[in-house]
Amino acid sequence: MSYMNAPATKLVATACLICRRPLVDATSVEVGIGPVCRERSGFSAEPSSTVQRYQPLGVLDPDRSVQARLDSGNRRGAANALTNFAARSNEPELAAKAAVQIGRLGYVRLSRAVLEGLADVTLHQHDDMIEVKVPSRHNKRWVWVIDRMGGRFNSKTKSHLVPTKARRRLWGALKKFHKGSLAIGPKGWFII
Ligand SMILES: [Zn+2]
Repeated sequence: MSYMNAPATKLVATACLICRRPLVDATSVEVGIGPVCRERSGFSAEPSSTVQRYQPLGVLDPDRSVQARLDSGNRRGAANALTNFAARSNEPELAAKAAVQIGRLGYVRLSRAVLEGLADVTLHQHDDMIEVKVPSRHNKRWVWVIDRMGGRFNSKTKSHLVPTKARRRLWGALKKFHKGSLAIGPKGWFII
């Protein structure tokens, strides 16, 4: 079997990287992001002028196409290739690393949108509350545990608000109910 016929190279994006809805048109499949999310995430917007030093791409760039584009000054092309990599990857951790590199190329909004799309759990710090969003928000045990911390459900944002002083208990609950999930918090992404 030749390299091109290997199963791994046949992976195509079938769901939007950001909202996870099915991709229906050819452009969206190629990019890995649907039309609405492309618009909202600043996919087509100009990147910021500052390019942060990017880390060696390694496994994020198996065919060195990203590096080739960077070497020729094609930032947009490099960002597209990384987006495509993230969309095809079935490893959330690698996809998250690709998203971080997209941000380093100056596509900060897109990077953030992709990370939030990839994450199963999101955490936002407000003044005295931590806002936490999990996929199984209707899980009765999870709701019970959050209630016991003095937290409450915000039906508008579909997230829980937990007092900051209960952060240790929240972390314990995340470890118990969402171990191994990709999470995004104020300092970036991490695996619970
Ligand atoms: Zn989408």
